[in-house]
Amino acid sequence: MRLPQQLLALTCPECGTDNPLEIVYGFASAEMFDSALAGLIALGGCTFDDDSPAYRCRRVDCETEWGRWGDFPD
Ligand SMILES: [Zn+2]
Repeated sequence: MRLPQQLLALTCPECGTDNPLEIVYGFASAEMFDSALAGLIALGGCTFDDDSPAYRCRRVDCETEWGRWGDFPD
């Protein structure tokens, strides 16, 4: 069961588009590159902290990033 703020987190705060790309951090494996090319995830680079965004809007003319890893304990 999702908490309300988690549902909110899955809608772009700028344009309201849902189903955002999850930003994946760390060394990108070949599988991760394939997923990014397929539009399933976004690659966030090798370093991140609790303030790094967790989601990126899938609209290419928006690309708003939001959510923080620290907000999602698991
Ligand atoms: Zn957006």
